[in-house]
Amino acid sequence: MQGKQDINLDAWTAEHTAMVRDVAAEFRARGYTVYLEAQNTIRVRGHGGAVLVGKPDIVAVKGDTAIVVDCKTGNPRTSDSLQVRLYMYLLGEFSTHPARGCRRILGEVRYKPDRGETLHLPHAAAAGVAGLMRRYMRVFLSPAPPLATPSFQECRFCELAGGVCMDAVEEEPEAVAVVWF
Ligand code: SF4
Repeated sequence: MQGKQDINLDAWTAEHTAMVRDVAAEFRARGYTVYLEAQNTIRVRGHGGAVLVGKPDIVAVKGDTAIVVDCKTGNPRTSDSLQVRLYMYLLGEFSTHPARGCRRILGEVRYKPDRGETLHLPHAAAAGVAGLMRRYMRVFLSPAPPLATPSFQECRFCELAGGVCMDAVEEEPEAVAVVWF
């Protein structure tokens, strides 16, 4: 029997698949050669042996231009553009993907029309992402756990709140009345 989480995952997968299919059809109609999901897998191995794997939903190639597209069915998050910037960088620098030969690698984060407007990322958006990722990976691979900085805004959406995670912030701090504004 399917649980609530399975049903939610099934619904998300169906919605995401339909969105990827529609966006891919749009690029094909515009004359692009379209590569989908597993065809776009990028794997890079760091000094310590850790492997970073990325898989953009769509890479559309025409002439010397490639567009890396990720489709989002949820609300826009600040990490969405970072994810696509990382794909752009990795595709351009390390992959064996046909996009690697392109002079311009652009990015797009596509949202459902009721969630947000498409975010367009220029070729230059990939610059600087390596330094950022190096810092993240250093924290991620460090034997010392990073300092937890939980917040009610994040924890209220997290499935580990409600008894599993000891750091969870379960309630919004009450506003204290002041007289100076
Ligand atoms: S409940 Fe725990 S794991 Fe989830 S967001 Fe909060 S601190 Fe992080």
